[in-house]
Amino acid sequence: MPQYETILLKNMSRPGYTGSLTDYERAGGYQALRKVLGKVAPTEVTEMVKRSGLRGRGGAGFPTGVKWSFLPKDYQGPTYLCCNADESEPGTFKDRQLIERDPHQILEGIAIASYAIGAETAYIYIRGEFVLGAKILEQALVEARAAGYLGCNILGTGVTLDVWVHRGAGAYICGEETALLESLEGKRGLPRVKPPFPATHGLYNKPTVVNNVETLANLPHIINKGPDWFASIGSPPKSTGTRIFCVSGHVKQPGNYEVPMGITFRELIYEHAGGMRSEKPLKAFIPGGASAAFFTPEHLDVKMDFESVAQAGSMLGSGGVTVMEEGTSMVWAALRLSEFFYHESCGKCTPCREGTSWVLQTMQRIWKHQGCQEDLAILLDLCQHITGRTVCAFGDALIAPIVSTLTYWRHEYEALIQAAATESLISLSTRSRDPGQTGHP
Ligand code: SF4
Repeated sequence: MPQYETILLKNMSRPGYTGSLTDYERAGGYQALRKVLGKVAPTEVTEMVKRSGLRGRGGAGFPTGVKWSFLPKDYQGPTYLCCNADESEPGTFKDRQLIERDPHQILEGIAIASYAIGAETAYIYIRGEFVLGAKILEQALVEARAAGYLGCNILGTGVTLDVWVHRGAGAYICGEETALLESLEGKRGLPRVKPPFPATHGLYNKPTVVNNVETLANLPHIINKGPDWFASIGSPPKSTGTRIFCVSGHVKQPGNYEVPMGITFRELIYEHAGGMRSEKPLKAFIPGGASAAFFTPEHLDVKMDFESVAQAGSMLGSGGVTVMEEGTSMVWAALRLSEFFYHESCGKCTPCREGTSWVLQTMQRIWKHQGCQEDLAILLDLCQHITGRTVCAFGDALIAPIVSTLTYWRHEYEALIQAAATESLISLSTRSRDPGQTGHP
C-alpha cells in the first residue's frame, strides 16, 4: 500500500502525544505564529496562503487566501474570524478528530488567520453534540492564553486576539456560514440571503471570514514549510495539499485517512480502508458527504480532487466517503437521506421546506410498495423545481441522492413499483373471491 507523509494527523501518531500545549510545542507547535507575528505583513501572509493553493475543506472548496482578500482594505472597525466546527454532514468525522486530538494546531491556525485579516476576536462555533471537543478546546485556550499565544500583546508583538468557543444547539444548517453567523448572534440559525456576503457584512454586520477546522489547521504548516511546498502536494494546480477523508460503511477499516489530493477512490477504499468487509462486491459509494451524488463502481478510478470529482458528476464536499456493498437497496439509502434532509431543512424558503416533505412522502410511498410509475416523474419534477431556487445550497444537497440513485438504479425503484402493482392485483383478486370482503351475501 502506498504510504504518504501526513501533515495534519502527524502529531497524533507520535507515541504518547496527548495534544497538550507541552506536546504541541515539543512537536514544533507555535513556531509558525512566532515566524509571522510582527515579522511578516498580514497582506504577505494572505499572499502566501493564496500561493499555496489551499482551498476550503468544509465542502465548497473556495480558495482560502482569495476569501480573505475579499475583506475591505483599511477598514477601521472590527473584523471577525469564525472557525466552523459545526461538523454535521453524515459520514464526516475528521474535524472532530482534529479538535479532540490536536487542538493547538487549530488554535495556531486561527491565530495566523486572524493576524492576516486583522481580527482581534475569533469564535469557534462547535457542534453542540461535540461536548468532549468543546471541553478540550476550552482547556487548550486556557493553556494558550497562559503561554502568551493568545490575549493582549501576543509574544510581545502588540498583536491582540481573543478566541471564544461557542456551542451550537445541534442544527445541521448552522454549518452553512451565514446560518452560523445568525446563530452566533443569538438568533435562530437561518441562512441569510446573499449578497451581501460575510466578507463585508458578516458577524454583527462587520467584515468576517468563516473557515473550516481542517482549513485552519493547515496554516501553521504552510507558514513553516512554505507555500510552494504545499502547492507541490496533491493534484496541482487546483487541488493542493492533503485531505482527510472519512471512510465509513461496508469496508474492513473505516476511519480517517489523510492522503494527498488526487489519489483514486479505488486506492482509498481498497488499499487504505482495507477493501470490502465481506465477499460482497462494492455497489455504490458517496464521494463527499451526504450532499454529494452517489457514485458506482465505474467511478472507482476517478481522482479525488475537486475538478475530477466534479467532472464525474458529484463533488468532493466534506470528504465523507460512504461505501455500500452489493445487496444494499439504493432506494432505502436515498430514503434515509431524504429523512435526514426533511428533518434538517430550516424552513426559510418554500421550495426546500415543502419540497423536502413531498420528496420524503413520495420516497416513503415507493418504499412501502404503495407507489406508482408516475411517482418517478413526480420525484424528478420536484428535484428540478428545488435545484437553484433556494436561499442556500441545502436545496441542491437534498436532491443529489434522489437524482443520482434514479440515474444509476432506476430499476430498483421500478421493481418496488412493480411489486406494489402486483400486490394490488393479488389483493383485488383475493377480495373478489372473498364474499366477506366484497360485501356480497
Ligand atoms: Fe433553509 Fe432549506 Fe432554504 Fe436552506 S434551502 S434556507 S435549509 S429552507
